[in-house]
Amino acid sequence: MPLGSDGTATVGHLVESTGVPLTEVGELRIGGVRVDPRRTAGAGDVLDVLPATWPQRVAHERFVLDVHLGALARRMRLLGLDTAYRTHAEDPELVAQAVAEDRVLLTRDRGLLRRRALPAGALVRADRPDDQLAEVVRRFAPAFAPFTRCPACNGLLVPAAPEAVADRLEPGTRRSYVEFSRCLECGRVYWRGAHAARLDALVAAATASALKDQGSGERRDGRIGGSRGASFGGSPGGIRGR
Ligand SMILES: [Zn+2]
Repeated sequence: MPLGSDGTATVGHLVESTGVPLTEVGELRIGGVRVDPRRTAGAGDVLDVLPATWPQRVAHERFVLDVHLGALARRMRLLGLDTAYRTHAEDPELVAQAVAEDRVLLTRDRGLLRRRALPAGALVRADRPDDQLAEVVRRFAPAFAPFTRCPACNGLLVPAAPEAVADRLEPGTRRSYVEFSRCLECGRVYWRGAHAARLDALVAAATASALKDQGSGERRDGRIGGSRGASFGGSPGGIRGR
């Protein structure tokens, strides 16, 4: 398609002028040669925009999600992915956190991905949280560590002895379960409860979608999988700590 340029626009600028954030495309080429998005576009240049290839490698498998992605955040944390999320956060705060902590910004908002300062970002296209999770897993192929993070606050979970958490449990819970975990950040206590089967299914589905694109065996180093889930399942029914 013909794109007008005033002679100072960069190649990246021209791509974005079509409404497509640079995070969503692959290599840019002029005359078959890869070019930097910051290169100035010349008159008559023919620009090839290649599709992005997945899985996409990022410097760190750390994420920050926009305010519309709370259900996805919870699911990602259940898989052990480092997922920052707050119910209230202005766009500039999200970008600042992505920059400061070198996190991949996941968002439903194309406009947000155009912020120059962003180290990495991705548009989440799916509408349903389970589909969004599959999309993120296929795009980034992150390493899972199920049930090691607090779904409520992203803090790390550590095993807790029943005696140590007894004062935070209902008597019935104390009798019925033997394995507990506690969040180092917020103190919430988790145990293998009524939601265990659903959580196991979530991990299994995410693992399946991760492996779907990885027939070559890449990243099949055992870090994917729900082995931890066999002995411990996080429960959203955890009791508030403090
Ligand atoms: Zn927590």
